Amino acid sequence: MIDFDSSPLMDMPSLYVVATPLGNLRDLSARARDTLAAVDVVAAEDTRHSQKLLDAFGIRAQRLMAVHQHNEQQTAGQIIECLARGQHVALMTDAGTPAISDPGARLVARVREAGYAVSPVPGACAAVAAVSVAGIVEGGFRFIGFLPAKSTARRTALLSLAGEREALVFYEAPHRVAECVADMAAFLGGGREILIARELTKLHEEIAVMPLVEAEAWFAADAHHMRGEFVLVVRGADAPDGLDVEAVRVLNLLLDELPLGTAARLAAEITGASRKGLYAHALAQRQ
Ligand code: SAM
Repeated sequence: MIDFDSSPLMDMPSLYVVATPLGNLRDLSARARDTLAAVDVVAAEDTRHSQKLLDAFGIRAQRLMAVHQHNEQQTAGQIIECLARGQHVALMTDAGTPAISDPGARLVARVREAGYAVSPVPGACAAVAAVSVAGIVEGGFRFIGFLPAKSTARRTALLSLAGEREALVFYEAPHRVAECVADMAAFLGGGREILIARELTKLHEEIAVMPLVEAEAWFAADAHHMRGEFVLVVRGADAPDGLDVEAVRVLNLLLDELPLGTAARLAAEITGASRKGLYAHALAQRQ
């Protein structure tokens, strides 16, 4: 039997990085609930938002402190002072796992540097939830998070990822998601499969799988498709015929700066791979 009466806290003062639900409150773990109730300080990305979650579970936090992207360094100092006084601190963000495209990483690094324990209280994470239903059988996945908002920078980023063999996992905001999948089709290749995970764990959860080339039209087909929060999982690149991964990586780097023919010639000279093969690969990628 699990002993729910024992303290969820460690003996020494620690920072607990607590995952909270993405939408469905039932996803808050028993350990997360007990930890948030037991610590001396809860550091939250948005204290008003987090107060609602705490209220829903009848948790009365002893002290709530705001920690967001713009004050993370300053708050780190205050949190280290709390730990020095022997207090326990929990960090939570608005939804999911702190430090995953969310504030927290700097704070964690500072606290560890200061010699205090940092302990995860794992739970919901949108990227992991989407990957868990993507059926990636082999090759693994790479978490990219948000692409740059500006179109030129986004396209450059996509181009540098085009040769990656792992599935790519992106976060995207609703107002950018349609143009983002259009760029993915153009720069990663329209034939690749994309899994669109919308509103995970919420009432209107939707999971759609299609070739990238169809994704922009899917968003345009129904206004509901564009609402909510999204994770995009794009299958990794196929192994290019006769080209090794390193040759394709070099080619992609050169393609960021040079015309296609020059990039293919230089990539062939640097890596010893077939110039014709690299050229054909770059051309297929562009198309
Ligand atoms: N730390 C969070 C995590 O563990 O997933 C992510 C925070 S990031 C600021 C917010 C982004 O996560 C959203 O723009 C969306 O891409 C993704 N996301 C969060 N909740 C989601 C949900 N319920 N369904 C789909 N994507 C979600």
